[in-house]
Amino acid sequence: MTFSAVIVAAGSGTRAGPGQAKQWRLVAGKPVLRWSVEAFLAAGAAHIVIVTTEDGEGALPELLSGLSGWSAARGGATRALSVQAGLAALAHRPDSEPVLIHDAARPFLGSSIVEAVLQALADADVALPALPVADTLKRAEPGQALTTASREHLWRAQTPQAARRNTLQAAYAAWSGGEPTDDAQVVEAAGGRVAIAPGDPLLMKLTYPEDFAMAERLAGAARVTRVGQGFDAHRWGPGDEVWLCGVAIKHDETLIGHSDADAGLHALTDALLGAIGEGDIGDHFPPTDPKWKGAPSDQFLKHAAELVAAKGGTIVNVDVTLICERPKIKPHRQAMRERLAEVLGLPVDRVSVKATTTEKMGFTGRGEGLAASAVVAVETPA
Ligand code: MG
Repeated sequence: MTFSAVIVAAGSGTRAGPGQAKQWRLVAGKPVLRWSVEAFLAAGAAHIVIVTTEDGEGALPELLSGLSGWSAARGGATRALSVQAGLAALAHRPDSEPVLIHDAARPFLGSSIVEAVLQALADADVALPALPVADTLKRAEPGQALTTASREHLWRAQTPQAARRNTLQAAYAAWSGGEPTDDAQVVEAAGGRVAIAPGDPLLMKLTYPEDFAMAERLAGAARVTRVGQGFDAHRWGPGDEVWLCGVAIKHDETLIGHSDADAGLHALTDALLGAIGEGDIGDHFPPTDPKWKGAPSDQFLKHAAELVAAKGGTIVNVDVTLICERPKIKPHRQAMRERLAEVLGLPVDRVSVKATTTEKMGFTGRGEGLAASAVVAVETPA
């Protein structure tokens, strides 16, 4: 189901202590806001509007570098006004498209929550993730003894909350109460049906200074590691140099192919595409397209790395094995590692290039062709 998202990031969050507003602070080395933007991109958001202040707007390009599919809108004096500014900025999207409204201060958003909320919206006017209250509740009022309150029927509301844009805009237009505490309340007041989807403890809202210490510990749990593998082979033919892992090597033969036939780069590109479920190199760069004739293959690898980044992913490490009797790979290994590291923007120690022969057996052993295999690990939002 297509959907768009509004991330409300205009608050000053004074309860989180002095210093930068909490949405700009780092959790596990990454700004709090960026966590949510990456999560929505990974979940397939058609467009994301970030509602923020004038200062915040200026910081966004650097904060969200490498990510596309978002735009900024200027926030209002209250959360309700900010949400409405975000909805107005989605006027180019279909009127009845589901919009997920999310607090920037809840960084650990998983794709499964987005799916659950959208699914719950199918039979409702607004849907929100919520958790049943587990702790015993106490009521303390001035001058009275502490009493125990029933937690029956009580839920903790979280975000993102989903509604169709026209429904939500109409509900806000009709709202006449004070400052609503969430979007579901506004739709509820307009007579809408509210649905609850299972919430996630990881969706905690960063409110107090100590929440940031907890968030650092939870950060690892909000990412998943994916593995991809790739394989490629090309035939030897007449020539005087061969491209392997982005490095040209003088040789008495060359590899034959539509592009520069760099089997190492092709295997590695396929491994990255595999890790994020984006098909294979032929889907992105069809060999039937004359545009790719003789093309340097590092652009294929770069494209795959950009697709990983667009999903909010980071490459953990890559490992390429070249399989041939000749040429000798070892003298070129370090140059290959450095070239791959440069293309992928990784430290060299995250890049491995190995070589093996097949003891004169098979097509590589007989010198008919060269083969390459690659394995990668990629971290993406859960
Ligand atoms: Mg190939």
